[in-house]
Amino acid sequence: MNWAFVGASTIAGQYLAGAVRATGGCEVRWVVSGSAERAASFATTHGIAHSGTDLSAALADPAVGAVYISSTNEKHHAQALAAIAAGKHVLCEKPLATSVADARDMVQAAERAGVIFATNHHLRSAGSLRAIRQLVASGKVGKVLSLRIFHAVELPVHLRGWRLDNPVSGGGVIADLTVHNADTARFLLGEDPVSVVAHMDATGLGQGVEDSAMSVWAMPSGAMVFSHESFTHPYAASGIEVHGTKGSILARGVLAQEPAGEIDLITAQGIARVDYDQSALYENVARNFCAAVTGTALPAASGGDGVRSLQIAFAVRDAARSGQRQTVNYGVSL
Ligand code: NDP
Repeated sequence: MNWAFVGASTIAGQYLAGAVRATGGCEVRWVVSGSAERAASFATTHGIAHSGTDLSAALADPAVGAVYISSTNEKHHAQALAAIAAGKHVLCEKPLATSVADARDMVQAAERAGVIFATNHHLRSAGSLRAIRQLVASGKVGKVLSLRIFHAVELPVHLRGWRLDNPVSGGGVIADLTVHNADTARFLLGEDPVSVVAHMDATGLGQGVEDSAMSVWAMPSGAMVFSHESFTHPYAASGIEVHGTKGSILARGVLAQEPAGEIDLITAQGIARVDYDQSALYENVARNFCAAVTGTALPAASGGDGVRSLQIAFAVRDAARSGQRQTVNYGVSL
């Protein structure tokens, strides 16, 4: 399958170009950017045959079967709708859009067109998170009482642009990282928060947008979820803790783009190190997406999952803005 990449972005160059090529029989055929120079430079660097600023030219290419969208967040909606209208399958970056209505619109358009639409919540494709999920599902920790997700990192210098000062592009740590934490909680626990309380602030990097947030979510099962995201924490390792009536899972360094981190299961029997699959996350995403296109798998994270993570993240933002507990309103089923 040939892909068109929409967005000459860091993530596309650093991970997805290689990930797509690692999936047998796949090639990146186009890169489309807002700048002809950036598109040409990206194409040269990554050995892509066609580049330009005209999305419709890439979409008119019958050899293109799939579109990967990794532009800034406010562009995802229009670009996804154009790709879907052209009959292409779409892998879209998180957050799917800058409003829940737009995200839902994209998913519904894909359903009507009969194309695959997936969200790049890559952490579902991490062996570490799959191992934690399996431990929880198999009852190793008993009834889950609480989940802590700590995703406070230092934003790398080369990414200190629109994320820190552009609310129109979907800047701010909540749109960037709370969506990942929301998807992680949903993936691990298999349930969606009922309500959230939250606080957010700019603690050194954000200009007009928040760079740090903490929130607590009430789950239908009674479990509590604590979610912490930041762009300003150089030494706070990422991690996940699941605490249950029979055991705890302590995972350090697992919220990453590479297979990384350690997982310990602590029960009455003692502490056991947990092994997990070390395969590359984004290669797993690309391979799964191709399998979804050929009808042999479901997307690891569907469009509906991308809508849900956005709904939860925006509830966190509303709670932090208002100082009031927010009920998460999921509206119509997906
Ligand atoms: P970048 O800032 O690297 O790229 C975003 C856009 O900025 C590009 O599409 C490009 O526009 C423009 N751009 C890139 N380099 C330059 C430059 N030197 N000068 C001017 N403009 C430039 O963003 P990311 O790659 O970090 O993120 C892109 C998307 O991917 C976001 O939606 C983000 O949330 C998501 N993401 C997801 C990750 C995941 O693991 N799922 C990880 C990282 C990001 P143009 O296309 O017009 O050339």
